[in-house]
Amino acid sequence: MSNPLSYLHDQIEQWKAEGTYQRLRILESESAAESRFDGKEVINLASNNYLGLTTHPKLREAALEAVRRYGVGSGAVRTISGTMSLHMQLEERIAAFKNVEACVVFQSGFAANAGAVSAILGPEDHIISDELNHASIIDGCRLSRAKIHVFPHKDFAAAEKILAELDSVPGHKLLISDGVFSMDGDIGPLPGLVNAAEKHGAIMMVDDAHSSGVLGRNGRGTIDHFQLHGRVPIQVGTLSKAIGVLGGYVCGSRDLIEFLYHRARPFLFSTSHPPAVAAACLAAFDVLEQEPERIQKLWDNTKYFKAGLQSAGFNTGISETPITPVIVGEAKTAHELSRELFNEGVLATGIGFPTVPKDRARVRTIVTATHTTGELDRALEVFRKVGKKLALV
Ligand SMILES: *Cc1c(COP(=O)(O)O)cnc(C)c1O
Repeated sequence: MSNPLSYLHDQIEQWKAEGTYQRLRILESESAAESRFDGKEVINLASNNYLGLTTHPKLREAALEAVRRYGVGSGAVRTISGTMSLHMQLEERIAAFKNVEACVVFQSGFAANAGAVSAILGPEDHIISDELNHASIIDGCRLSRAKIHVFPHKDFAAAEKILAELDSVPGHKLLISDGVFSMDGDIGPLPGLVNAAEKHGAIMMVDDAHSSGVLGRNGRGTIDHFQLHGRVPIQVGTLSKAIGVLGGYVCGSRDLIEFLYHRARPFLFSTSHPPAVAAACLAAFDVLEQEPERIQKLWDNTKYFKAGLQSAGFNTGISETPITPVIVGEAKTAHELSRELFNEGVLATGIGFPTVPKDRARVRTIVTATHTTGELDRALEVFRKVGKKLALV
């Protein structure tokens, strides 16, 4: 009998032939500036652990204390019996931090985007979306069955033109953008987008996954960075990146959050975070307020490392944030560069199509606040050496 799943094997063999097949790297230590992957100590330039909070003593202690007091699981979805006081405290804490009325926490940033967009829109509505928005936004848009209008990356004039054409068309309009784009590290043109949304009565939504803990006062994100408080009715963030733990959230009006409590499917149909996750996230917001020097160090490291890559002759694209791509062209080259870097003691992931366009494959680097200058110098030395070997610089 033939195997009805054999087409999967055929596709995998094709990836191997093309040089785009990727084995998972196994992390055998904590996620830190230097970590052990696959038995090898490397400088880790591949995490989203911007502020080093994955191993912060205050988060660790908060998680352990929560385990001792409340156990390891919440026992149910939020709407049945799985809303713990820690979950409510975290939502109140985030709402206050973001200067909004209310907040709902989801299991992940992915669930927050997919759950929120699909809950508030239906087939008769319209979504105007940046072409480089994150996959979780795209999936949320598709799940909503609203009509999707994609505009060229960061082109807020093009977004406004689409909105103008929809002025006389019935249905709700949602204009949506990443705050910081995850593959290029550039910042979304929020002032232009917000103006366009206000002019045409559209709902503005910003996904600040890569900006929370990175941009704005104490890491309040792009809305704070651009001083757009009160003008972005739906703000999404993640607890999985700079916050160092796991989760996602939506911030906005009390009505928005009440509505999501009743209609967002990941909230209704998937179990809530373990108490240790909520407690560690709460501790992370204390750290953001109490240790702003971490964010300063993150930006000092970012400037230092980016300048080093550029002076070595690498193409770092249009990055404005700690996410710094090294653009090489072919996916095969990106994966080869990544492998060679690893052999020399630096972890940086190769990224190709379909995550980025076919001729824009890259190795993505993310420095953190916890990298020392010595580590960054060593990483730059490895980049120079491997870049010469592969004739990239
Ligand atoms: C990482 C990311 C997400 C998903 O966040 P998780 O908490 O990891 O699920 C959503 N949006 C953007 C822009 C991201 O970069």
